[in-house]
Amino acid sequence: MSAGAIDLHTHTTHSDGSASPEELIGAARLNGALAVAITDHDTVGSFAEARAASERFGIEFVPGIEISAEFSSGTMHILGYCVDETSAQLTEKLDELKHAREERNPQMASLLQSLGLDISYDEVARLAGNEIVGRPHFARLMVEKGYVASIQEAFDRFLKKGAAAYVEKARLSPADSIALIHSAGGVAVLAHPYQLKLSSLERADELVAQLAEFGLDGIEAIYSRHSAAERAFYAEIAARHNLLVTGGSDYHGSYKPDISLVTGLGDLEVPYALLEAVKARAASRARPPLGFDGGQVFGAGEGDRQT
Ligand code: AMP
Ligand code: ZN
Ligand code: FE
Ligand code: FE
Repeated sequence: MSAGAIDLHTHTTHSDGSASPEELIGAARLNGALAVAITDHDTVGSFAEARAASERFGIEFVPGIEISAEFSSGTMHILGYCVDETSAQLTEKLDELKHAREERNPQMASLLQSLGLDISYDEVARLAGNEIVGRPHFARLMVEKGYVASIQEAFDRFLKKGAAAYVEKARLSPADSIALIHSAGGVAVLAHPYQLKLSSLERADELVAQLAEFGLDGIEAIYSRHSAAERAFYAEIAARHNLLVTGGSDYHGSYKPDISLVTGLGDLEVPYALLEAVKARAASRARPPLGFDGGQVFGAGEGDRQT
């Protein structure tokens, strides 16, 4: 219970979470949160239901999205807040990213079959049930069929980067991910920076400096899987580069069973003031850069690895 806190990073059944938008908004309200953002991967499909639920339950809803960017060493995800889901550029690019998943997902099913697992893509898509199908849905089916004991085991043995059934998917570059979010009037935030798996603190500083040049607005320093030291370190880097700090749990319901909404692993506390700064930044956002065409979705090939 953390009355007055907020959660700026959650997933619903529209991507790889297990709670519907309405269930998630209701649960956040029960947990005493003042505001909750939904940040599904590559989709804004939750927004209409989430808005209606937020009015009914009396809790603020923040429309968000999470985009996977090209990054060679670890995983780079960029969160977009206060995005306008009617933006034509956003709609078009999200469609391309969905197609990139549709290219990659059947290949993962084939690899699993060649390893002797009876996993068809149709079954995975049926289980996912909504517009975005991702590796956690494969993992869930593998648990249901008894091939592995947990979603984590499915990732560790088959689905994580470099594992036998892993297949890359096409992504946007970091600069294009940020520009896309800006083009939809949103605020771009580097998600869970520990997943970048950077070799040194200096490297983190360099990378953030480069992303800031691309227009990055903030860093998710307060993250459920960040230690207290990591939270302080990334908040300091954010301050050094004049960036906002945000925070969230990355709640996925039963797909990440150890992470609770709003409280994360138990010690998460994200103050409402951080959201005020995000909204102020969104309100001051100038028009989209002239001539930006939405960027190019690159072919598969570069890294996505996380724990
Ligand atoms: P996808 O977008 O299909 O590549 O799946 C990415 C999602 O899978 C992430 O957002 C996480 O929810 C989950 N995931 C990725 N890597 C791991 C891992 N090593 N262990 C557990 N979950 C993971
Ligand atoms: Zn996810
Ligand atoms: Fe992420
Ligand atoms: Fe996430």
